[in-house]
Amino acid sequence: MATATKTAGYPRVAAMRQALASHRIDLLVLAPTNNLRYTLGGFCPPGDERFCALLITPAGAALVIPALNLQQAREHTEGLTFFSYADADGPHAALNQGLRAVAAASPLATVAVDEEMYAEHLLVLQAACRGAEFRLAGEVVGPLRSRKDADEIAILREAAATADAGVRAVFAACRPGVTELELVEIAGAAIRAAGADGVAFGSVAAGPHTALSHHAPGRAALQAGDVVCVDIGSKLKGYCSDITRMGVVGGADPDPEFDRVQTLVEEAVRAALAVARPGALARQVDEAARGVISAAGYGEYFVHRTGHGLGLSVHEAPYITGTSDLVLEEGMVFSIEPGIYLPGRFGCRWEEIVYLDASGARVFSALPRVVQTSGSRV
Ligand code: ZN
Ligand code: ZN
Repeated sequence: MATATKTAGYPRVAAMRQALASHRIDLLVLAPTNNLRYTLGGFCPPGDERFCALLITPAGAALVIPALNLQQAREHTEGLTFFSYADADGPHAALNQGLRAVAAASPLATVAVDEEMYAEHLLVLQAACRGAEFRLAGEVVGPLRSRKDADEIAILREAAATADAGVRAVFAACRPGVTELELVEIAGAAIRAAGADGVAFGSVAAGPHTALSHHAPGRAALQAGDVVCVDIGSKLKGYCSDITRMGVVGGADPDPEFDRVQTLVEEAVRAALAVARPGALARQVDEAARGVISAAGYGEYFVHRTGHGLGLSVHEAPYITGTSDLVLEEGMVFSIEPGIYLPGRFGCRWEEIVYLDASGARVFSALPRVVQTSGSRV
């Protein structure tokens, strides 16, 4: 019988097996999500309603996989042990075999599960591990994923350049009459033309829509004097980018308070950039940005955390919130994106993705944070 411990070609599996021991977790179960993609160095089996999970214990690892995807997994992996099942049979027997193989006779008393696993699959797993205490995989995987290596930093920098191209294209096309959705299309085309594999997400908001931090772009046409918020991200080699820039449609002046607000948000970004370095706490970065905005009387209009980690997922650890005592480390990549949102009027957010080197925060984007104006303002 194949052993369940042949994972020498997977350094991240080895790192997780070590981390399991220090977290006192007996079994880590990863679904076909970016957690699994990270662990297997870029490969992730298709994820759907069929149960699929990578089982990792301090003793070994095995992949429980539907039979129809087995050949694909064999071709993309090296030395991994599989337990497959036919659609007609369901996953229970394969899962139990897999669990026995990786457990190596030790009880599976504490199980950490992928946050994004189907609830249906969690129930299958719970039935197979009766009596176990269940925790979340992020405890083990999050710290590993959040410290990027040099190769990941290089890809993220490249991805950021493609998003920059998308932002430039949007502001070049901003004029009265063009719609938010048309601008999203223009961003996507420019992102692909710049070499990205695809678009991770894209939002363009105009006028009062900018006051909604997660506006869904629609057919609204831009008008002279509208504030425009472009928040887009590309995908390259599995990794994401994320950037926000602001503009004003020429031909009329924006809301008279906009200049003051955008200057404040810029100060907030600078304050956070100055604090973000290895050894600082995540909450100190949030406090730096929030302090600037609160001191000016706009605190209640900064309605979200200052930032989030970025990598294979657009949002991942570390999260830059006012309550996080996480110590920031070299190699971490996250956003700094304070904003002020005045309901019914306008919002303003600048977003930079930074990585931490020994001396502090380095910004990926080459775009300046200046309000882009299409045509001339009157
Ligand atoms: Zn973001
Ligand atoms: Zn964003």
